[in-house]
Amino acid sequence: MNLKQPLFLVLCFLQFWIESCQNTKVSPTLMPTYVIRNVNIIPMTASKELINNATVIIQNRKIVAINEAIPNNATIIEGKGKWLLPGLIDMHVHNLADVNFSNNFPTKGATLFTNNQDFMSLYITNGVTTILELSARVEHFGQRNEIIKGNVIGPRVAMAFLIDGGEDSGNNANTPEEGRQTVRIAKAQGYEFIKVYSRLNQATFNAIVQEAQKQGMKVVGHIPNVFRGKLAEAFIPNFGLVAHAEEFSKQSKSFSFSDAQRFAQLAKENDTWLTPTLITMVRIAQQTHSLDSIKNSPLLKYVPPLMQSKWLFSNNYNRETDPKRIARIDSMVAFHQILVKAFKEAKVPIIAGTDAGVSGVIWGFSLHDEIALLVDAGLSPDEALTSATRLPAQWLGIEDKIGTVERGKMADLLLLDANPLDDIANTRKIAGVFVNGCWVNKKTLRQMLFEAQKHHKANQAKEESNWKNRKNF
Ligand SMILES: [Zn+2]
Repeated sequence: MNLKQPLFLVLCFLQFWIESCQNTKVSPTLMPTYVIRNVNIIPMTASKELINNATVIIQNRKIVAINEAIPNNATIIEGKGKWLLPGLIDMHVHNLADVNFSNNFPTKGATLFTNNQDFMSLYITNGVTTILELSARVEHFGQRNEIIKGNVIGPRVAMAFLIDGGEDSGNNANTPEEGRQTVRIAKAQGYEFIKVYSRLNQATFNAIVQEAQKQGMKVVGHIPNVFRGKLAEAFIPNFGLVAHAEEFSKQSKSFSFSDAQRFAQLAKENDTWLTPTLITMVRIAQQTHSLDSIKNSPLLKYVPPLMQSKWLFSNNYNRETDPKRIARIDSMVAFHQILVKAFKEAKVPIIAGTDAGVSGVIWGFSLHDEIALLVDAGLSPDEALTSATRLPAQWLGIEDKIGTVERGKMADLLLLDANPLDDIANTRKIAGVFVNGCWVNKKTLRQMLFEAQKHHKANQAKEESNWKNRKNF
């Protein structure tokens, strides 16, 4: 978030560890060939067969061979006793990007700036190599381009354009025609998905979902409030993904398993998938009790200071709390686990998303929390890992490119020091990450986090790091 962050420092650091690999301008013939040898592969393919003591050959950003002869001049990575998985995918994030909270003259542009490398380091150091931005705006295109150009090492980013009812922003649509037109504009501007939000009326919701289908855009999002008491009517073709378990718990008075089963059936029949975002409600519940979970988090130092300030000093979950609300949220946390069980039983695909960016939900780290919570809720470790690899790739329509460890796939890979199928907590024991065919080892991952917290600390006291001042710039 620092305007004056000297760019050269970031560039020097990049040079230190990317070995020119991340730069997409490098000719493919100059890119290193990597070999991971003696590694145990958890390919996350549908057949689920592990491949032990394997050799994985990576060339020009792709997995070109498994268990074939090692090419000359390859950079060897020793994989003995380690476990190789596809890079992880978080299907519900809100990224911090350059922003202007108070535009007051033409040409002013953004006023608060994100250090994109420090921000994206949170994903990469956690092995998260693809994300779905669920409230995308123009600055996110710039942020994504920095990654694509190789100036920043970060995940692949898919972007959904949010449409809500009401009158408070340009993203509002209150008639079917406004809804259709907004979808067409979003398509023309380059967004890949549409996110529907809570205040849409029924006719507009229907029109948006239909128009999006016509435009080849899947719809993800909330179940608008208008569907309370008539939930079945929300399940129309091309409503492809419900963004929170909470969208269902809002529809239940009893929080019973039979309610959960009824919801799961509706989703199943319409081929609507679910990102439960269990961690979001766990963090919100903690904050309704007190802010200690944030204050005491050892990870807070990695959060950009503007967001630290918001979470600690402008925290709505904590400010607008009372015992009744606390009890309600605690029971929602419990019901969300029941929902996951019912959706699993009904064979509705469950995919991992975290709502990273909500206070207390820290980008990158939160995906490991979510995967562990999915296991707590009854998914096997294999199912939980599938929810963060193959299934989201499939929902995004890029399953031919990422989501499994197979020949021909892009080399987005997570190397672990221990087997996550034995203990899901092992997803956090990261030995290294391949990001778009570039190897980032453990030492470099540590260095990336160190740099991020160092910059945040230096910026902490600045006026622009105070959330309450955000409109003053
Ligand atoms: Zn969200």
